[in-house]
Amino acid sequence: MEEQENILRGGHFIIKETNCEDTFTPEDFSEEQLMMRDSVLEFAEKELWPNKARFETKDYAFTVECMHKAAALGLHGISVPEAYGGLGMGFISTILVCDYISGTSGSFSSAFGAHTGIGTTPITLYGTEAQKKKYVPKLASGEWFGSYCLTEPGAGSDANSGKTKAVLSGDGKHYLISGQKMWITNAGFCSLMIVFARIKDDKNITGFIVEHDKENPNGITLGEEEHKLGIHSSSTRQVFFSETKVPVENMLAKRGEGFKIAMNALNIGRIKLAAACLDAQRRITTESIKYANERIQFKTPIANFGAIKYKLAEMATATYVDESATYRAGKNIEDRIAMREAAGNTHQEAELKGVEEYAIECSILKVRASEDLQNCSDQGIQIFGGMGFSADTPMESAWRDARITRIYEGTNEINRMLAVGMLVKKAMKGHADLLGPSMAVADELTGIPSFETPDYSAVLSEEKAMIAKLKKVFLMVVGGAIQKFGPNLEQHQQLLLATSDILIEIYMAESTILRTEKNAKRFGEDTQEIQIAMAQLNLYGAVDKIISKAKEGIVSFAEGDEQRMLLMGLKRFTKYTSQPNVIALRIRIADTLTTENKYCF
Ligand SMILES: Cc1cc2nc3c(=O)[nH]c(=O)nc-3n(C[C@H](O)[C@H](O)[C@H](O)COP(=O)(O)OP(=O)(O)OC[C@H]3O[C@@H](n4cnc5c(N)ncnc54)[C@H](O)[C@@H]3O)c2cc1C
Repeated sequence: MEEQENILRGGHFIIKETNCEDTFTPEDFSEEQLMMRDSVLEFAEKELWPNKARFETKDYAFTVECMHKAAALGLHGISVPEAYGGLGMGFISTILVCDYISGTSGSFSSAFGAHTGIGTTPITLYGTEAQKKKYVPKLASGEWFGSYCLTEPGAGSDANSGKTKAVLSGDGKHYLISGQKMWITNAGFCSLMIVFARIKDDKNITGFIVEHDKENPNGITLGEEEHKLGIHSSSTRQVFFSETKVPVENMLAKRGEGFKIAMNALNIGRIKLAAACLDAQRRITTESIKYANERIQFKTPIANFGAIKYKLAEMATATYVDESATYRAGKNIEDRIAMREAAGNTHQEAELKGVEEYAIECSILKVRASEDLQNCSDQGIQIFGGMGFSADTPMESAWRDARITRIYEGTNEINRMLAVGMLVKKAMKGHADLLGPSMAVADELTGIPSFETPDYSAVLSEEKAMIAKLKKVFLMVVGGAIQKFGPNLEQHQQLLLATSDILIEIYMAESTILRTEKNAKRFGEDTQEIQIAMAQLNLYGAVDKIISKAKEGIVSFAEGDEQRMLLMGLKRFTKYTSQPNVIALRIRIADTLTTENKYCF
């Protein structure tokens, strides 16, 4: 089943070429998806955006009110199968809703994301039929809200080390859960908790569905709301369990499978979090453009200054890049789910395997989109100058709200290391042939380079050739590192981080180029002039970063002749035939933005 389909497998982008025609882009949204987008945007514009300031006042009740309003539109059940009260829409629709509902306030998007994601998916993915029938309709309708209790004071990134215990009662009918969880989103108003606890001295934790009824606390008490840097109206509390009685039939999957559940729920959470960073970037960019057009200094709108054009062009480009990659991966996941269903898997099995397959891409997207959002809001503050530092403008809260996205759903350090670590593991298991292409690159390094002048007349052809070469850089560095350190590579974290940055840049740049090439071919090159400029500008930055990270890796693990050869290879594989004029590109992008007075791609 794996090989017969023409769907790029997870992680294989680094060893294979993708045709632009096989890449999904936001320009491919169906009528139904566009309608869904418009209704989510209408909700955000009407209910959330005008109340942005209210979300800064620790108004937790207001967040709950908005969650109920989203429920009335069916938005909590987008991805839930119809059999369990949801709309049963595909993965693209799921991330589309996540995208457009999340741009206005980190408080609301955290509440929405925790409920519809990690608060619900463990049951849809791992629940028994009885569990799904009992709980999922309540969650999909918003009658109940969900939370996810994994983190503990002593167990954060090391999530499987939690001390919360689950002890079987004497009559064998219940587990008694005791322990302390912390940083639990939605704790203050949820009716259901996905709780991870250890049975006896099991190596791995176990997942449970725990009902939370304030009238009948059942040993559950909550800490006070945490005082946080951002997402001020997202409820975040500690949760204490003292012999909380949970029926044995509320165990999720099998004993000891909790860690697997936790990680897979996070995989989906990561691509959704990337999506949740998109509309925030669009809005911050739009607000910055409007301000730059209005703010006069030295008798001219600041939008006319090169320094501001630089920022606007970079902000819009990063947004376009993140959009391109998120929807590309989203469609791969959707297609893989469909393929598995067609081959006889249940929807549940298909979804689980479909998302697991693209765990590398999910980590890549989470890291890059969260960092782009942070940069975007930081530049937004800078464009607003002193006003950006004021809580009276939307930039200040956007910047604070953005910060958490680099921490939750696995910190960006952990996700960077996971991305490369999972790829290396895939290679070791024979699921991705890194070795063959790495050896081919090694041979190429010792061979004579071609002196032919390539024909780069087709749109983005030089850029595509550059992507192919950058993949060689990755294979060269990772191949060399594996050769040097073997299975101990995972102990060389700084090297992993550097290689991960190379991997991330390649995926993001390739996705952007493929989207733009596809659109240029079908809509005409002239319609994509600025998108082409953004793809080129992003690639230029990617090449620069890759040169720096690859060099850092090479000089750290190779010496003498080997080092010289690898550095020469790096030079060869990062050489442009014609360098883009990046300043001119930024000016063209910024001028379009300021003319349109909004993010317009
Ligand atoms: C507002 C908010 C909401 C949250 N919501 C939830 C929720 O709903 N449910 C839930 O279960 N959790 C939730 N969390 C917890 C969140 O997932 C954790 O904070 C996160 O996983 C990091 O764990 P930690 O805070 O213990 O940091 P630590 O794990 O202590 O990490 C501290 C630093 O060390 C680094 N580090 C840790 N281990 C390694 C390693 N092996 N190698 C290299 N570097 C490492 C980290 O990257 C980080 O920079 C939330 C947190 C916050 C702040």
